[in-house]
Amino acid sequence: MDLRGQVALVTGASRGLGRAIALALARAGADVAVNYARSATLAQEVAGGIAGLGRKAVPIGADVADFAQVEKMCDQVIKEFGKIDILVNNAGITRDTLLLRMKEEDWDAVIDTNLKSIYNCTKAVARPMLKQRSGRIVNITSVVGIMGNAGQANYAAAKAGIIGFTRSVARELGSRGITVNAIAPGFITSEMTEGLAEEVKRSYLAQIPLERFGSPEDVAGAVLFLVSPEASYITGQTIHVDGGLLMC
Ligand code: NAP
Repeated sequence: MDLRGQVALVTGASRGLGRAIALALARAGADVAVNYARSATLAQEVAGGIAGLGRKAVPIGADVADFAQVEKMCDQVIKEFGKIDILVNNAGITRDTLLLRMKEEDWDAVIDTNLKSIYNCTKAVARPMLKQRSGRIVNITSVVGIMGNAGQANYAAAKAGIIGFTRSVARELGSRGITVNAIAPGFITSEMTEGLAEEVKRSYLAQIPLERFGSPEDVAGAVLFLVSPEASYITGQTIHVDGGLLMC
Protein backbone atom coordinates (compact mmCIF):
# COMPACT_ATOMS: atom_id res chain seq x y z
CA MET A 1 0.00 0.00 0.00
CA ASP A 2 1.54 3.31 -1.05
CA LEU A 3 0.02 6.28 0.78
CA ARG A 4 2.86 8.75 0.23
CA GLY A 5 1.56 12.32 -0.01
CA GLN A 6 -1.69 11.45 1.82
CA VAL A 7 -2.84 13.11 5.05
CA ALA A 8 -4.79 11.04 7.59
CA LEU A 9 -6.73 12.02 10.70
CA VAL A 10 -7.19 9.13 13.15
CA THR A 11 -9.45 9.72 16.15
CA GLY A 12 -8.59 8.02 19.43
CA ALA A 13 -5.07 7.31 18.23
CA SER A 14 -3.30 7.51 21.60
CA ARG A 15 -3.64 3.77 22.28
CA GLY A 16 -5.26 0.50 21.20
CA LEU A 17 -6.62 0.16 17.68
CA GLY A 18 -6.22 3.85 16.83
CA ARG A 19 -2.51 3.79 17.70
CA ALA A 20 -1.94 0.72 15.50
CA ILE A 21 -3.94 2.31 12.65
CA ALA A 22 -1.99 5.59 12.87
CA LEU A 23 1.36 3.77 12.80
CA ALA A 24 0.29 1.48 9.93
CA LEU A 25 -0.85 4.49 7.84
CA ALA A 26 2.49 6.18 8.52
CA ARG A 27 4.43 3.02 7.58
CA ALA A 28 2.56 3.11 4.25
CA GLY A 29 3.75 6.71 3.75
CA ALA A 30 0.91 8.90 5.11
CA ASP A 31 1.32 11.92 7.38
CA VAL A 32 -0.96 11.58 10.40
CA ALA A 33 -2.91 13.81 12.79
CA VAL A 34 -3.09 11.85 16.06
CA ASN A 35 -6.29 12.72 17.95
CA TYR A 36 -6.76 11.91 21.64
CA ALA A 37 -9.06 12.95 24.49
CA ARG A 38 -7.00 12.75 27.70
CA SER A 39 -3.79 10.79 26.99
CA ALA A 40 -1.58 13.64 25.77
CA THR A 41 1.65 11.85 26.68
CA LEU A 42 0.65 8.65 24.88
CA ALA A 43 -0.45 10.63 21.81
CA GLN A 44 2.90 12.43 21.84
CA GLU A 45 4.64 9.02 21.90
CA VAL A 46 2.60 7.84 18.90
CA ALA A 47 3.49 11.05 17.04
CA GLY A 48 7.15 10.45 17.96
CA GLY A 49 6.93 6.90 16.54
CA ILE A 50 5.50 8.29 13.30
CA ALA A 51 8.21 10.94 13.07
CA GLY A 52 10.72 8.11 13.53
CA LEU A 53 9.28 6.55 10.37
CA GLY A 54 10.08 9.78 8.51
CA ARG A 55 6.48 11.01 8.35
CA LYS A 56 4.89 14.15 9.77
CA ALA A 57 2.67 13.70 12.82
CA VAL A 58 0.83 16.17 15.06
CA PRO A 59 -1.01 15.14 18.25
CA ILE A 60 -4.32 17.01 18.59
CA GLY A 61 -6.41 16.91 21.77
CA ALA A 62 -10.15 17.16 21.07
CA ASP A 63 -13.29 15.53 22.45
CA VAL A 64 -14.85 14.00 19.34
CA ALA A 65 -18.29 14.16 20.98
CA ASP A 66 -18.14 17.96 20.83
CA PHE A 67 -18.77 19.47 17.39
CA ALA A 68 -17.02 22.78 18.14
CA GLN A 69 -13.85 20.96 19.26
CA VAL A 70 -13.98 18.72 16.17
CA GLU A 71 -14.29 21.72 13.84
CA LYS A 72 -11.29 23.32 15.54
CA MET A 73 -9.33 20.06 15.21
CA CYS A 74 -10.08 19.80 11.47
CA ASP A 75 -9.12 23.44 10.94
CA GLN A 76 -5.82 22.69 12.70
CA VAL A 77 -5.21 19.63 10.47
CA ILE A 78 -5.79 21.72 7.32
CA LYS A 79 -3.53 24.48 8.68
CA GLU A 80 -0.70 22.07 9.64
CA PHE A 81 -0.94 19.59 6.73
CA GLY A 82 -2.76 21.53 3.99
CA LYS A 83 -5.54 18.92 3.45
CA ILE A 84 -7.29 15.79 4.78
CA ASP A 85 -7.41 12.71 2.53
CA ILE A 86 -8.25 10.01 5.07
CA LEU A 87 -10.48 10.07 8.15
CA VAL A 88 -10.53 7.07 10.47
CA ASN A 89 -13.35 7.41 13.00
CA ASN A 90 -11.98 5.13 15.69
CA ALA A 91 -12.48 6.81 19.10
CA GLY A 92 -14.86 4.91 21.34
CA ILE A 93 -15.75 4.05 24.92
CA THR A 94 -17.83 1.48 26.79
CA ARG A 95 -20.11 1.93 29.82
CA ASP A 96 -21.34 -1.66 30.13
CA THR A 97 -24.28 -2.58 32.32
CA LEU A 98 -27.68 -4.25 31.96
CA LEU A 99 -30.45 -2.01 30.65
CA LEU A 100 -32.33 -1.80 33.96
CA ARG A 101 -29.20 -0.54 35.68
CA MET A 102 -28.08 1.70 32.83
CA LYS A 103 -28.09 5.36 33.83
CA GLU A 104 -29.02 8.05 31.38
CA GLU A 105 -25.40 9.31 31.61
CA ASP A 106 -24.14 5.85 30.54
CA TRP A 107 -26.41 5.94 27.52
CA ASP A 108 -25.60 9.54 26.56
CA ALA A 109 -21.83 9.19 27.00
CA VAL A 110 -21.62 6.12 24.77
CA ILE A 111 -23.97 7.48 22.10
CA ASP A 112 -22.19 10.84 22.04
CA THR A 113 -18.63 9.47 21.98
CA ASN A 114 -19.25 6.49 19.67
CA LEU A 115 -21.99 7.74 17.31
CA LYS A 116 -22.40 11.51 17.44
CA SER A 117 -18.61 11.71 17.01
CA ILE A 118 -18.95 10.01 13.63
CA TYR A 119 -21.42 12.70 12.52
CA ASN A 120 -19.17 15.44 13.95
CA CYS A 121 -15.93 14.28 12.31
CA THR A 122 -17.43 13.19 8.99
CA LYS A 123 -19.35 16.44 8.61
CA ALA A 124 -16.23 18.46 9.42
CA VAL A 125 -14.03 16.69 6.81
CA ALA A 126 -16.74 16.32 4.15
CA ARG A 127 -16.43 19.89 2.88
CA PRO A 128 -12.65 19.82 2.19
CA MET A 129 -12.97 16.31 0.73
CA LEU A 130 -15.85 17.41 -1.54
CA LYS A 131 -13.75 20.33 -2.72
CA GLN A 132 -10.80 18.10 -3.59
CA ARG A 133 -13.20 15.49 -5.06
CA SER A 134 -11.53 12.63 -3.23
CA GLY A 135 -11.44 11.11 0.22
CA ARG A 136 -11.50 7.95 2.26
CA ILE A 137 -13.57 7.59 5.42
CA VAL A 138 -13.37 4.45 7.57
CA ASN A 139 -15.66 4.06 10.59
CA ILE A 140 -14.81 1.57 13.32
CA THR A 141 -18.01 -0.18 14.37
CA SER A 142 -18.20 -3.62 16.07
CA VAL A 143 -19.72 -7.06 15.53
CA VAL A 144 -21.75 -6.17 18.65
CA GLY A 145 -23.64 -3.63 16.52
CA ILE A 146 -24.85 -6.53 14.39
CA MET A 147 -25.32 -9.37 16.88
CA GLY A 148 -26.17 -7.36 20.03
CA ASN A 149 -24.70 -8.13 23.44
CA ALA A 150 -26.31 -8.32 26.88
CA GLY A 151 -24.91 -5.47 28.97
CA GLN A 152 -24.05 -3.33 25.96
CA ALA A 153 -27.39 -1.88 24.74
CA ASN A 154 -25.84 1.60 24.54
CA TYR A 155 -22.68 0.40 22.77
CA ALA A 156 -24.57 -1.91 20.37
CA ALA A 157 -27.03 0.87 19.48
CA ALA A 158 -24.17 3.27 18.70
CA LYS A 159 -22.28 0.68 16.68
CA ALA A 160 -25.41 -0.32 14.70
CA GLY A 161 -26.03 3.37 14.07
CA ILE A 162 -22.55 3.68 12.57
CA ILE A 163 -23.42 1.05 9.95
CA GLY A 164 -26.58 2.92 8.84
CA PHE A 165 -24.63 6.20 8.82
CA THR A 166 -21.85 4.61 6.72
CA ARG A 167 -24.29 3.35 4.08
CA SER A 168 -26.20 6.65 3.90
CA VAL A 169 -23.14 8.87 3.64
CA ALA A 170 -21.51 6.49 1.14
CA ARG A 171 -24.55 7.15 -1.08
CA GLU A 172 -24.32 10.92 -0.53
CA LEU A 173 -20.60 11.32 -1.21
CA GLY A 174 -19.94 8.61 -3.80
CA SER A 175 -20.39 10.84 -6.84
CA ARG A 176 -17.54 13.06 -5.60
CA GLY A 177 -14.92 10.33 -5.35
CA ILE A 178 -15.27 9.80 -1.59
CA THR A 179 -15.65 6.27 -0.22
CA VAL A 180 -17.18 5.57 3.20
CA ASN A 181 -16.77 2.12 4.73
CA ALA A 182 -16.90 0.50 8.14
CA ILE A 183 -14.84 -2.14 9.89
CA ALA A 184 -16.48 -4.36 12.48
CA PRO A 185 -13.82 -5.83 14.76
CA GLY A 186 -14.65 -8.82 16.91
CA PHE A 187 -12.66 -9.37 20.10
CA ILE A 188 -9.42 -7.39 19.83
CA THR A 189 -6.79 -7.26 22.56
CA SER A 190 -6.69 -3.68 23.94
CA GLU A 191 -7.38 -1.74 27.15
CA MET A 192 -11.07 -1.87 26.24
CA THR A 193 -11.15 -5.67 26.49
CA GLU A 194 -8.40 -6.43 29.02
CA GLY A 195 -10.67 -5.72 31.99
CA LEU A 196 -13.26 -8.34 30.98
CA ALA A 197 -13.71 -11.38 33.24
CA GLU A 198 -11.65 -14.46 32.30
CA GLU A 199 -14.83 -16.53 31.81
CA VAL A 200 -16.22 -13.93 29.38
CA LYS A 201 -12.94 -14.06 27.42
CA ARG A 202 -12.98 -17.89 27.40
CA SER A 203 -16.53 -17.91 26.12
CA TYR A 204 -15.64 -15.52 23.26
CA LEU A 205 -12.56 -17.55 22.38
CA ALA A 206 -14.63 -20.72 22.11
CA GLN A 207 -16.76 -19.03 19.41
CA ILE A 208 -13.84 -17.82 17.24
CA PRO A 209 -13.01 -20.23 14.38
CA LEU A 210 -9.44 -18.84 14.07
CA GLU A 211 -8.99 -19.70 17.79
CA ARG A 212 -7.31 -16.47 18.84
CA PHE A 213 -8.22 -12.92 19.77
CA GLY A 214 -7.45 -10.26 17.18
CA SER A 215 -4.63 -7.75 17.51
CA PRO A 216 -4.90 -4.00 16.80
CA GLU A 217 -2.63 -4.68 13.79
CA ASP A 218 -5.26 -7.07 12.36
CA VAL A 219 -7.71 -4.15 12.28
CA ALA A 220 -5.06 -1.73 10.95
CA GLY A 221 -4.46 -4.07 7.98
CA ALA A 222 -8.11 -3.80 6.94
CA VAL A 223 -8.04 0.00 7.31
CA LEU A 224 -4.94 0.17 5.09
CA PHE A 225 -6.72 -1.81 2.41
CA LEU A 226 -9.87 0.36 2.52
CA VAL A 227 -7.93 3.62 2.19
CA SER A 228 -5.64 2.31 -0.57
CA PRO A 229 -6.16 2.77 -4.33
CA GLU A 230 -6.84 -1.00 -4.47
CA ALA A 231 -10.18 -0.37 -2.67
CA SER A 232 -11.34 2.51 -4.87
CA TYR A 233 -14.49 0.62 -6.01
CA ILE A 234 -15.60 -0.36 -2.49
CA THR A 235 -18.04 1.88 -0.60
CA GLY A 236 -20.84 1.50 1.93
CA GLN A 237 -19.47 -1.83 3.13
CA THR A 238 -18.81 -3.26 6.56
CA ILE A 239 -15.82 -5.60 6.71
CA HIS A 240 -15.71 -7.96 9.69
CA VAL A 241 -12.27 -8.42 11.27
CA ASP A 242 -13.26 -10.99 13.85
CA GLY A 243 -11.55 -14.33 13.20
CA GLY A 244 -14.89 -15.66 11.93
CA LEU A 245 -16.81 -14.90 15.17
CA LEU A 246 -19.79 -13.57 13.23
CA MET A 247 -20.50 -14.80 9.71
CA CYS A 248 -23.39 -13.09 7.96
P1 NAP B 1 -9.20 1.87 23.88
O1 NAP B 1 -7.93 1.09 23.99
O2 NAP B 1 -10.01 2.08 25.10
O3 NAP B 1 -8.84 3.30 23.21
C1 NAP B 1 -9.86 4.25 23.00
C2 NAP B 1 -9.30 5.45 22.29
O4 NAP B 1 -10.38 6.37 22.07
C3 NAP B 1 -8.24 6.21 23.08
O5 NAP B 1 -7.27 6.70 22.21
C4 NAP B 1 -9.03 7.36 23.69
O6 NAP B 1 -8.26 8.53 23.94
C5 NAP B 1 -10.01 7.64 22.58
N1 NAP B 1 -11.18 8.38 23.05
C6 NAP B 1 -12.11 8.00 23.96
N2 NAP B 1 -13.02 8.97 24.13
C7 NAP B 1 -12.68 9.99 23.28
C8 NAP B 1 -13.22 11.26 22.99
N3 NAP B 1 -14.34 11.70 23.59
N4 NAP B 1 -12.59 12.04 22.09
C9 NAP B 1 -11.45 11.63 21.46
N5 NAP B 1 -10.89 10.41 21.71
C10 NAP B 1 -11.50 9.62 22.60
O7 NAP B 1 -10.18 1.21 22.83
P2 NAP B 1 -9.89 0.27 21.54
O8 NAP B 1 -10.10 -1.13 21.96
O9 NAP B 1 -8.63 0.66 20.91
O10 NAP B 1 -11.13 0.67 20.64
C11 NAP B 1 -11.01 1.53 19.52
C12 NAP B 1 -12.30 1.47 18.71
O11 NAP B 1 -12.51 0.13 18.29
C13 NAP B 1 -13.55 1.86 19.50
O12 NAP B 1 -14.44 2.56 18.65
C14 NAP B 1 -14.14 0.52 19.89
O13 NAP B 1 -15.53 0.59 20.11
C15 NAP B 1 -13.81 -0.30 18.65
N6 NAP B 1 -13.82 -1.74 18.87
C16 NAP B 1 -12.94 -2.32 19.74
C17 NAP B 1 -12.98 -3.70 19.92
C18 NAP B 1 -12.06 -4.41 20.87
O14 NAP B 1 -12.22 -5.64 21.04
N7 NAP B 1 -11.07 -3.76 21.46
C19 NAP B 1 -13.92 -4.47 19.24
C20 NAP B 1 -14.80 -3.83 18.38
C21 NAP B 1 -14.75 -2.47 18.20
P3 NAP B 1 -7.58 8.79 25.39
O15 NAP B 1 -6.45 7.78 25.49
O16 NAP B 1 -7.07 10.18 25.28
O17 NAP B 1 -8.63 8.57 26.41
